[in-house]
Formats: sequence, C-alpha cells, structure tokens
Amino acid sequence: MVTKRENSISGTETPLAPGSTAESVDDDDNPFRPPKDLRAEDESDKRNSGISFSIKGMAGRTDSSAPHRPAPLAAPRTRKEIVVRKRLKPKPKLTGDFATSDSVYYRKTGNESVVGSGTYGKVYKAVHVYTGDKVALKKIRMEGERDGFPVTAIREIKLLQSLNHTNVVKLQEVMVERNDCFMIFEYLSHDLTGLLNHPSFALTEGHKKDLAKQLFEGLDYLHKRGVLHRDIKAANILVSRNGELKLADFGLARFYNKNAKLKQDYTNRVITIWYRSPELLLGETQYGPAVDIWSAACVLVEIFTKHAIFPGDGGEINQLDKIYNVLGTPSRTNWPGIVDLAWYELLRPAHKVASTFAEKYQERVSPAAFDLLSAMFVFDPDTRPTASDVLEHPYFTTEEPKAKQVVELKDLEGDWHEFESKALRKEKEREARRKDKESMEKRKLEGPMGDERELKRVKTGDAQA
Ligand code: ADP
Repeated sequence: MVTKRENSISGTETPLAPGSTAESVDDDDNPFRPPKDLRAEDESDKRNSGISFSIKGMAGRTDSSAPHRPAPLAAPRTRKEIVVRKRLKPKPKLTGDFATSDSVYYRKTGNESVVGSGTYGKVYKAVHVYTGDKVALKKIRMEGERDGFPVTAIREIKLLQSLNHTNVVKLQEVMVERNDCFMIFEYLSHDLTGLLNHPSFALTEGHKKDLAKQLFEGLDYLHKRGVLHRDIKAANILVSRNGELKLADFGLARFYNKNAKLKQDYTNRVITIWYRSPELLLGETQYGPAVDIWSAACVLVEIFTKHAIFPGDGGEINQLDKIYNVLGTPSRTNWPGIVDLAWYELLRPAHKVASTFAEKYQERVSPAAFDLLSAMFVFDPDTRPTASDVLEHPYFTTEEPKAKQVVELKDLEGDWHEFESKALRKEKEREARRKDKESMEKRKLEGPMGDERELKRVKTGDAQA
C-alpha cells in the first residue's frame, strides 16, 4: 500500500551566530536569490534547521522505524538575465490647437477641413499632432447600415492593404474614434478635377504627358495584380505638390480572375456614368480591364482639353447617344460581340451616325496623342489596348516634348480638389445671381427715367466706356 506523505515544517529555528542578523545571513541584496517568502524551505535546510518530515499519523515518533529523511532540496536554479532598461523619450510638448486636440489627428472644426464629400461620407484634411504629417481622413458612413460594418468598406480596406505602388494612394491605418471609423490616407493637395478647373494654373504639354504616364503606370500595376478599379475619373485621381499622381477611391474596386477560363459575372452598375464604357452601358457583366482603359481615355481627353468628352444627363440612353455622336454608331464589323449584349436590341440606335471624333479632336491634340486616343476609344473591348500597350505608344516613347513632372505645383497657393472647385463655382454663381438681383432692384428704384437714361447712354455710346 502506498502511504501518502505529507511535508510538514516544524517551525523550529536554528539560533543565529552571535552578532549576525537575519538580514546579513539572507543576503537580501543578492538579485539572483528568490524572494524571501519563496525560499523558506531552502533557507532552513541550508541552515540545517529542524525541518522534520513525517508519515501522516506518525508525527512525533522517534523510534528507529521512522522513515529516512529525504535528501535536502536542491537550491532553486537561477538564471542571469540582462535587463536593458530603455529611457522613455520625453513626450513632446504640444502647442496651440494641437495641445487641445482630442484626437491624434487634428482637424479644423466643422466643414473647414472638408476636402471631399463622396459616396461613403466626408473626407477631411488633418495633421498628426506629433509628427506633423498631413493625412486625409475618410469617414466610413455607418448610417443606414443594418448589418454592422459596411462590407464595401471592408472590401476597400482589404484591397488597399494589398497594394503598394507609387501611383496608388497609401492607406496608413484604420482608426476608430468615439463612434466613427476612419480610413487614414497620406494627404495629397490636389485632385485632377480641382487642378484642371484652377482659374489660372495651366499645364504644359510635358506636364500633361507626365500625368498621363503616371495614370497608366498606376493602372498597369492594378491590372497586373488582378484588380479592376471600376471608378476611374478625374476626381479620383490625386496629385501631390511635387506632381506625383495617385489613384484613389477603391470603393468599387475588386479582384478579378485574370486566368479564369469561364468569365465571371460582375455588376455593370459601376463607374460614374460619363466614364462608363459602351459595353457596360449595353449590359455586359463579364468584363475586364478594358472598362478602366475606356474611363482613363476619357480622363486623358480632360487632361488635354479640360472638358469631359461625353457629358451625358445621367441616363444610360443619353450617355450612349453622347458616345455615338462623337464616335459614330457601332456596327457588327467594328464590334462583332455587340449582338450578344443584353440590352443591344433594346437600345439599338434608330439611325446610323458617322464619327465626328477627328473633326472634334485632331486639331486639339498632338498627332501621337490623337492616334493614342483613337486606339483607346474603340467599341470592341477586346481590341482596346492594355495599360502596358498604352505606355509603349509613341506618344510616350518618341513624340516630343518628353514627359515632365509638374514640380511647379509646389508654388501653387491652396489645395485644389473637386470639392473646392465646386464650392468656387457655386460661389461664383451666387455672386452672379446677387449682382443680377441688385441691378434689377436698382433699375426698379430708378423707375422709367432710369431706363430712359440707360437707353440714352447706349445710344450715345456711353455704355462702352
Ligand atoms: P468617395 O468614395 O466617398 O467618393 P473618395 O475616396 O473618392 O471618396 O474621396 C472624395 C474626394 O476626397 C476625392 O475626390 C478627393 O478630392 C478627396 N480625397 C480623397 N482621398 C484623398 C487624399 N488621400 N488626399 C487628399 N484628398 C483626398
């Protein structure tokens, strides 16, 4: 029968040597010794104090039949540890608005810091209070979301995290602050809509070529990684103060299977309608990178002329009309696949029209640029060039002038996004309306005499003064 053994500490103390203290014996300063409360057995054993072990129920028996004392416990093993203590950096002192900011990303209150307002919510300009780096905070709109965090935002975040290219905007982090969730991006001072609508800043031919080149380099990267952007337009193309271009807004982007034998179905309700390709407008759901090439070609026209090439009224039928009015109606010869499209019969044009593209654009752009645009604005998506084909075009490789980065932007005052240019346009319209109203009221006050005087002035030629 196995007898259960019980360790019991007798509590008998060995008298200390005269003059020595418990502290000096314990050598409490030794950092390699276990703390006092953990070494009672060890210490008493070392001093050979009277720890007695007894078999349960036999305590106190002193006869020779008592079991042997077990071997003294080994001293606990100790290990040398080098502790490197880092001196904490003193917290930088914040001043002014940064000191009172309740977020690490300081932004001006109200609408003052808004630089964009889109499908998801607002985009704010902000500054990291410690590093001073500028960032764009894109607030994720949660209103009306019944299923928690919006899946579109998750898709955008996942996609952005997998991308790393100089011509793609960088997502730095995602932040939850109080009840709001933000995507934090590097900040770029302009977008193409803002820049192209600037009241005085004009791009040279070299600048335009450089922006176009960066646009297709960004697209080439995305398409090679199997990503369709699906919302290429001027407002989603950011430009930094030193002329770097970056594709932004991946809210509609998705991975596509480049090697799939069977094409997958995607929604065709993508891409802002002015930039939407004819195959999407005719109901195609099995599309590829050619849809981004069409949109990029539309952007290229805007870079060259400052005007949108197909500014429709927002409806699909009208958008197709705009396209046909410039490029002529498509035929089975130039687009064999057109007959298979879902809405081909439904949206069949009533009569054929010829292309006016050359008439409209040949004189406005360089010969190579015209040739490149003509190659991209083909109806059949299978014959549209890829982004890497575009970069090989003589417009980029041989035609003068060469691409030149818009470094001059560093001297441009203010930030120019679609948001600011819209606000400026609205302000101008308001001003014009106010002036109209004022002059009407003035005329009313002056009465018929005033009108007569006005008439007289016109007659005598004073009005020209
Ligand atoms: P949405 O998906 O809501 O349309 P976007 O990502 O397109 O939002 O952003 C809307 C606008 O905000 C853009 O047109 C651009 O002017 C501005 N914006 C977006 N990201 C940045 C950024 N990183 N830096 C500066 N401005 C930005």
